[in-house]
Amino acid sequence: SVRELFLVSGLGAKKVSALWANDIDSLEELIMAADDGRIEAIKGFSSKSAIKFKASAEFAINSKNRMRLDEAWEISEYFIDLINSKFNKEIAFEAGSFRRKLETIGDLDFIIKDLAINELVRFLQDFVEIVKEEDNRLFANFNGRELSFLSVDKDYFGWAWLLETGNGDYREMLLARAQSQGYRVKDWQLLKDSKLVKTTSEQEALDLLDLPYIIPERREIAKPKPIENIIELKDIHGLVHNHSTWSDAVANIREMLIAAQDRGYNYLAMADHSKTSYYANGLSIVRVYAQAKEIAEIRAELKKQGSDFGLLHGIEVDIMTDGSLDYPDEVLASLDYTVVSVHQNFTLSKAKQTDRIIKAISNPYASILGHLSGRLLLRRPPYEIDQDAIIDACAQTGTIIEINAHPARLDMDWRYLIKAKEKGCKFSINPDAHETSGFDVVKFGLMMARKAGLQAGDVVNTAPTATNFLAQLKEFPFKL
Ligand SMILES: [Zn+2]
Ligand SMILES: [Zn+2]
Repeated sequence: SVRELFLVSGLGAKKVSALWANDIDSLEELIMAADDGRIEAIKGFSSKSAIKFKASAEFAINSKNRMRLDEAWEISEYFIDLINSKFNKEIAFEAGSFRRKLETIGDLDFIIKDLAINELVRFLQDFVEIVKEEDNRLFANFNGRELSFLSVDKDYFGWAWLLETGNGDYREMLLARAQSQGYRVKDWQLLKDSKLVKTTSEQEALDLLDLPYIIPERREIAKPKPIENIIELKDIHGLVHNHSTWSDAVANIREMLIAAQDRGYNYLAMADHSKTSYYANGLSIVRVYAQAKEIAEIRAELKKQGSDFGLLHGIEVDIMTDGSLDYPDEVLASLDYTVVSVHQNFTLSKAKQTDRIIKAISNPYASILGHLSGRLLLRRPPYEIDQDAIIDACAQTGTIIEINAHPARLDMDWRYLIKAKEKGCKFSINPDAHETSGFDVVKFGLMMARKAGLQAGDVVNTAPTATNFLAQLKEFPFKL
């Protein structure tokens, strides 16, 4: 419908009605019209803007039927609990791209062990809209989301779960491997000499084919490298890059601190907004020093209580358009660390945007590069930058790369994390919390780190104490 044209960034009411007057009333139509020159012919449009709107329309189409990892997590937990508690045993498991923890999910796939498909349908019909049922598989709709449930006998569960988890390339590799070893594959089952082969677990199936176990998060290519001691949630000891009521969060520093302690962390590193982010109540220089005073008071209280919990004073410092940082050096030097981020001027040319960020991370006061690409998943594509050049600059300058754990961001993209690890970069998995419940997103950042094959040693906030954490960052040139 014409309303979906508003999903295209840069299209307001005036432009949408101009398009509509020219019979362009859907995203698909917009793309075709851009290709055959009809858009640039409309008053107020140009060939340049037609290209831009086409790219944005393609992004909107790709986003339409997908969900973020946090929504997928909620729906998945709901159905797994629902089915397991109804049948009073652990029979429902995640599969597909959600099990691989891809940053956005289309269909949500489940695999059900040892339950006849008609029994599952009879139970689920009160909770979902049944779309169809075929070959032991139920397709259903839940609040506009597409779900699939595959029912499998427990004796053949291992092989079926491998195939159902994917991805496509990994599945192809498995099928080719099975064939080369004299197996036949039929309907999610493995046969040898026309007899069904039992595989009650994935490990059992992989052992048969003499293949290593790969965690689901890493199964995005045909032959992922097995990685020892991949990072786990329990390895993370500090919460870095957090906001408070000093800028745009709803909790004050004391509330954030108690919530961090309650969750078993050892240190909390604050990072409220800097002055140029005035819309987020960014801190003027006077307020930076006032905040330092409050943090010193809270530290004194902690010490009096005999607590060794660490509280660090940092700021999320805006990267200015020319690549300078938002405060003079003496203000930066008064902090424990910084997160440097781009919050405005997303539309610079690729070369300018890249230079801007490289200049910022070359600053000795830039500890961590925040949400590098600026993407908002399913809402805003990354701005144009040369991520490889920026990775090189981070490696050279010892700037830590943030894995922003917010499910809207998950930025840096995990595909680039793999490259950055190869270059020797270090990372920080940061909640960017604006309320105490915001700490709970760390798990999503962790999933990205696991997809990239990171180990605890690659991630600076696995350090056990605040002092150990700081020791891995650039040392500020002088301290006031
Ligand atoms: Zn930010
Ligand atoms: Zn932030």
